[in-house]
Amino acid sequence: MPPPVFRFAPSPNGFLHLGHAFSALMNFESARRGQGRFLLRIEDIDAARCRPEFEAAIYQDLAWLGLSWETPVRRQSEHLADYRAALDRLAALGLLYPSFESRAEIAALVNAREMDGGWPRDPDGAPLYPGTAKSLAATERERRLRSGAPFALRLDMEAARRLAGDLTWIERGSGPDGETGEILARPEAWGDVILARKDIPTSYHLSVVIDDALQGVTEVTRGQDLFRSTAVHRLLQEILDLPQPVYRHHDLIRDAEGKKLSKSSRAIGLRELRSGGMTTAELRSLVGLP
Ligand code: GLU
Repeated sequence: MPPPVFRFAPSPNGFLHLGHAFSALMNFESARRGQGRFLLRIEDIDAARCRPEFEAAIYQDLAWLGLSWETPVRRQSEHLADYRAALDRLAALGLLYPSFESRAEIAALVNAREMDGGWPRDPDGAPLYPGTAKSLAATERERRLRSGAPFALRLDMEAARRLAGDLTWIERGSGPDGETGEILARPEAWGDVILARKDIPTSYHLSVVIDDALQGVTEVTRGQDLFRSTAVHRLLQEILDLPQPVYRHHDLIRDAEGKKLSKSSRAIGLRELRSGGMTTAELRSLVGLP
């Protein structure tokens, strides 16, 4: 049996907090226990929010936690050709369409529908894409593409579901409602997700799936906030003939008010804790690790 491959995949758009420490330690220690490999991946496709100083801080904070990882580290921004190749395959299957709306236009469409009796939301609470770009006449689509109008590429969810059939994944952790074991994937709950953003020819969903496959990741251990996204990941794996890892979604570390820690809220940063004199042993006990 080849060794299991684990990964920790932070985005350098802020300093790591306690929740990241928990996830990184879980991955690193599971790899060590299972005589597996531990990879670090920098998910830096969001050029507006990612910064080199945050990436440098990730390495420092993880080293302080006692982690070591294989090099070179995969940086998503350096592999756009891999994502483009996947988009080409999806396009050849007729599963993508360009959507030209601005955020404001989408918000207005959602508002109108909400006033009209409600509009469905995705599992993260964002309204599903309400646009009509999928049914644009071919000539109009061509005209807009030729005019150089910016566009995102969306997955035709209905067609993708039809092609892939029913899908499940193996969950060794649990979802927010305690779901565990073999989970039925419901990617349709996300609607026609964006696979290539207007500003960069990929998206979180696409690059995470391609990278996990290219890096040979066999175990995806990450926060429960990504449990429901796994349905989209399974769908893309199936359509692109990629192997499926085993998933383990873990509890999120919450702040004193019970809210999920985030880089933007006043989450407790590892740097602050470190400079405040906390030891790694104290940090482990704070996040409930032995
Ligand atoms: N880059 C994502 C984050 O920082 C994690 C992606 C994943 O583990 O699948 O939340």
